[in-house]
Amino acid sequence: MENLVIIGSGPAGHTAAIYAARANLHPIMFEGFMAGGVAAGGQLTTTSKVENFPGFPNGIDGLELMMNMRQQSMNSWTRIETKTIDKVDFSTKPLRLFSGNEVIEAKSVIIATGAIAKRLGIPGEKDYRQKWISACAICDGGLPIFRGKPVIIIGWGDVAMEEAQHMSHFASKVIILVRTDKLRASEVMQARAKANEKIEFMRYTEALEALGKDMLTGLKVVNNQTKEEKIIECSGLFYAIWHRPNTEFLWWQITLDNDGYIITKKMPVHTATNIDWVFAAGDVADKKYRQAITSAASGCMAALEVQKHLQEQK
Ligand SMILES: Cc1cc2nc3c(=O)[nH]c(=O)nc-3n(C[C@H](O)[C@H](O)[C@H](O)COP(=O)(O)OP(=O)(O)OC[C@H]3O[C@@H](n4cnc5c(N)ncnc54)[C@H](O)[C@@H]3O)c2cc1C
Repeated sequence: MENLVIIGSGPAGHTAAIYAARANLHPIMFEGFMAGGVAAGGQLTTTSKVENFPGFPNGIDGLELMMNMRQQSMNSWTRIETKTIDKVDFSTKPLRLFSGNEVIEAKSVIIATGAIAKRLGIPGEKDYRQKWISACAICDGGLPIFRGKPVIIIGWGDVAMEEAQHMSHFASKVIILVRTDKLRASEVMQARAKANEKIEFMRYTEALEALGKDMLTGLKVVNNQTKEEKIIECSGLFYAIWHRPNTEFLWWQITLDNDGYIITKKMPVHTATNIDWVFAAGDVADKKYRQAITSAASGCMAALEVQKHLQEQK
C-alpha cells in the first residue's frame, strides 16, 4: 500500500511532493499523461514567460520552471509515474485509485489536478496564443506591450470585471465583450467596472477572428443583434470565460461545489476534504486566486497536513 499518492503535477503537486518526500512520507506522484488535455507539469507548460514567481528576477519560461520543479521532486526521492488516474474509490480504506488496469491502494491522497482555462476556439486563436491572447490578465497584464494600448476582455462574471480593473492600470482602454446584455458579475464588481472611465462594455458582441501579423493587432467581432461586423484594434485579448477543474474522475466520491471545484474545509485544516485522508491543493480547489504561487503554497499546506494527520494517528 502507498503511504501518500499525489495526483497531478503542477506547482501544487510538486510542492506537495517536495515537502512530503523531505518528511519521509515516501510519496508517489501520478503526473498524468495529457490529463485534461494538458501535459505533465500543468498549465504553466503552456505559457512562455512567468514573471511573477519569486526567485526569478528576469522571469522564467513556464516549461523550464515546471521541469525544475519535477527535478526537485525527484531529487527529494518522489517516485513519478507518467499515468493518469481515471477513477477513485474513496468509500473504503485503504483508499483505491485506478489507472487503466492498475489499482493503487493508498493510505492518503493529495489531489492537485488543476483546472483548464476555456478558450473560444476562434480562427487565429492558436496563432496569437502568447502573442498576445491569454487566459490570465493578472499573470500577463504587466507586460510592456499593453502599456497605453487598447485591450479586450471576453467574459461576464466577477473574473472579467476584476481583470478589466487590473488591465485599466496599464492599457489605454479596456473593452469587455459580452454576448448578451446580461452580466453574471456581482453588483459591486459591475458598479466598480462601470465607474472606471477606461472600461467600456460592448454588449451583444461576439468574437469572430483574432487578427495580426507577428503579434495580435485586432479582433474581428459581430453584433449578434444587427449582424454588423467590425474590427477592434487591440494589443491583447484576455479570456475570462470559465475554468473547468479537473474533477470528472472524482464525481460522486468527494464533495464538489456547483462549478466542480473540490470543497476544502479551510478550518482548522486548510486542505482537508470531506473524506478522511484525502486532501486537495491548487487550482482544483481554488477558483479565486488561480496563481502558481498560491497553488504551490497550498501544496505545501497539504503535505504538512498529511504529515500532521499521520502523526496524530500514531
Ligand atoms: C496560459 C497561462 C498562463 C499562466 N501564467 C501564469 C503566470 O505567469 N503566473 C502565475 O502565477 N500563474 C499563471 N497561470 C496560472 C497557473 O498556471 C496555475 O494557477 C497553476 O498552474 C495551477 O497549478 P496546479 O498545480 O493547481 O495545477 P495545474 O498547473 O493545472 O496542473 C495540474 C496537472 O495535473 C494533471 N492532471 C489532471 N488530472 C489528472 C489525473 N486524473 N491524473 C493525473 N494527473 C492529472 C494535469 O494534466 C496537469 O498537468 C497561467 C495559466 C495559464 C493557463
